[in-house]
Amino acid sequence: MTTGGGKGEKILVSVRVRPRNDKEKTRNDICDWECVNNTTIICNNNLPERSLFPSTYTFDKVFGFDSPTKQVYEDGAKEVALCVLEGINSSIFAYGQTSSGKTYTMSGITEFAMNDIFCYIQKHKEREFTLKFSAIEIYNEAVRDLLSGDNNQLRLLDDPERGTVVEKLIEETLRDRTHLEELLSICETQRKIGETSLNETSSRSHQILRLTIESTGRQFSLESSRTLDASVCFVDLAGSERASQTLSAGARLKEGCHINRSTYSWNRHPQTKVRKGRNGGHIPYRDSKLTRILQNSLGGNARTAIICTMSPARSHVEQSRNTLLFATCAK
Ligand code: ADP
Ligand code: MG
Repeated sequence: MTTGGGKGEKILVSVRVRPRNDKEKTRNDICDWECVNNTTIICNNNLPERSLFPSTYTFDKVFGFDSPTKQVYEDGAKEVALCVLEGINSSIFAYGQTSSGKTYTMSGITEFAMNDIFCYIQKHKEREFTLKFSAIEIYNEAVRDLLSGDNNQLRLLDDPERGTVVEKLIEETLRDRTHLEELLSICETQRKIGETSLNETSSRSHQILRLTIESTGRQFSLESSRTLDASVCFVDLAGSERASQTLSAGARLKEGCHINRSTYSWNRHPQTKVRKGRNGGHIPYRDSKLTRILQNSLGGNARTAIICTMSPARSHVEQSRNTLLFATCAK
């Protein structure tokens, strides 16, 4: 499928299998999956009841146990993430069941991408860059600012020019790399605090880190002097096993891409769209705060990469297969 817009670029879909953890090793939880090359994953579990399901799955990239996060970033996210420097909105998602490696993968990818972005800025002195950073968590359709230090719920507003915006969201203008590192560590702490007070929220909550980059050429009257303005979102989705909240949200990402192409008609006839969504084939876009917030990152000429993470263990084979089916749909 395409992310819409003139380029008609496809969603970049990758799968990452984490190594077995100690618990899985000790209880001799068999490794069911084999990555045969860097695009194919095979299920070696031949139990009779499994035979109804495909055993071979192919994606843009498949990363096995021994692939470092750097490689996942280079081959599965970099190209999409760095589009932001050309003024193209983009987003990178981690999708998978709890403890499959979403946060591990996404935090690494975020770090590598930020690093590349700062290097690029350093090399391009002919342009002036302004970087803004914001971070939110969505838990049970409640939106919380990870930079604010309180638990207040934020409202979404429909701005005629900017689309959906989060009211009162803190957007920090970055002074330098150290400033960004400080903010990232605040997010991590805030997310952990939420986790303890709300009982393992990370498995039920989505985290969205957004970096907005505006740049203008310093030289006057050149093509290169035009202003570019775009954002890149790093989205660590809630555990995909929570079907009611997460599977639907994840599945809507794709739907969101479609629906966003008709943002114009959507703005004019919001009620029609919602009703069509409830009764007909379309999933109601407005029902998910996640897709509303990501509206701009999914529509127009935006680029998207999804990294689906999974455990190789037999005890998780059902969830892993659900993840691969989702990944197949997202292609
Ligand atoms: P999730 O966010 O999907 O719930 P985590 O990212 O928290 O899962 O990962 C669960 C555990 O597995 C963590 O301790 C993490 O460090 C470890 N882990 C995940 N992926 C990998 C990997 N590719 N290599 C090594 N350890 C991993
Ligand atoms: Mg996590």
